[in-house]
Amino acid sequence: MLIIGSHVSYKNDTQLVGSVNEAISYGSNAFMFYTGAPQNTLRGEINDLITVEALNIMKSHNIALENVICHAPYIVNLANNTDMDKYNFAIEFLRKEIERCMTLGVRKIVLHPGSATKLDREYAIDNIVYALNKILMREDDIVILLETMAGKGTELGINIDELAYIIDHVELKDKIGVCIDTCHLNDSGIDINDIDSYLDEFDSRIGIDKFGCVHVNDSKNPLGAKKDRHENLGYGTIGFDALLSVIYNARLENVPKILETPYINREYAPYK
Ligand code: FE
Ligand code: FE
Ligand code: ZN
Repeated sequence: MLIIGSHVSYKNDTQLVGSVNEAISYGSNAFMFYTGAPQNTLRGEINDLITVEALNIMKSHNIALENVICHAPYIVNLANNTDMDKYNFAIEFLRKEIERCMTLGVRKIVLHPGSATKLDREYAIDNIVYALNKILMREDDIVILLETMAGKGTELGINIDELAYIIDHVELKDKIGVCIDTCHLNDSGIDINDIDSYLDEFDSRIGIDKFGCVHVNDSKNPLGAKKDRHENLGYGTIGFDALLSVIYNARLENVPKILETPYINREYAPYK
C-alpha cells in the first residue's frame, strides 16, 4: 500500500490532534509536523491527554506511528561550533526534541545535517558527528534521519560521501538513517529520472534499509542548481513521471512519502 502524506501544521493548543486531523482531511496515511515554528526553537509543553486522543484518531484512521515524522527546526546547526554557547544550545535542543518525540510516541526525526558556514567542511562534518554522538542515547526509541541537502550555501550532507561519513562515525547505528528529498537531490545534481542508479549506489555505500522517509517535491530550479526551492508535483523541472518513479519505487515501498510542496496562491493546500 502506498504510504503518503504531507507536512501539516502543529499548534500548541491542539498539538498532535490538530496535525492528525489536517492529515486526514487530505486523505493521508502519513504526515510530518514540526513541534513548533520551523524557524525558531520556542517549544510548548506536551499535553498527554491530547496525545492520547491523537493516537486514538490515528488508530481509527490506519495511520501507523512509524509513518508519523517530526522535522527538527532548520536553524539547529550541529556543524558550527564557532560559538560554543550556540553549539551547546543546538545539542541540548535536539536532545529535548528527542524527548518530546518519545513523549508523543513519534520515532522518526528529520534533521538538516548542518551548514559549514566559515568552517572547513571536514571539520564541520566532524562537529555533526560529535554532536550526534552526544545527543543519541542507547535507550532512545528514535531514529534521526539526515536529510539529503541541495547544496545551497555551505550546506553539508549534499552527497552520499558526506552522509556515509556521518553514519559511519555515529556510534549508535540503529538510531541514524536518511531522508531523501527529491527537490534537494535534483538541485544537488542527481537526476530523478534515473533514481534507480542513485538507489543502487546508496544501497552499496550506506544500505537501503537506512531510508526512513522520502520528501517528494518538484523543483523550481534545474538539475544541479544548488538552490532548494520546492514546486508542486508536475509543475517543476523534475516532472510528474520522474516523481512517480520515486513514489512507486518498489525499493521505497515501505518508506513514508511526504509532500512539502507550496500552497497554491499561498492559500490552498495542494495535498489532497
Ligand atoms: Fe527538510
Ligand atoms: Fe525536505
Ligand atoms: Zn528543501
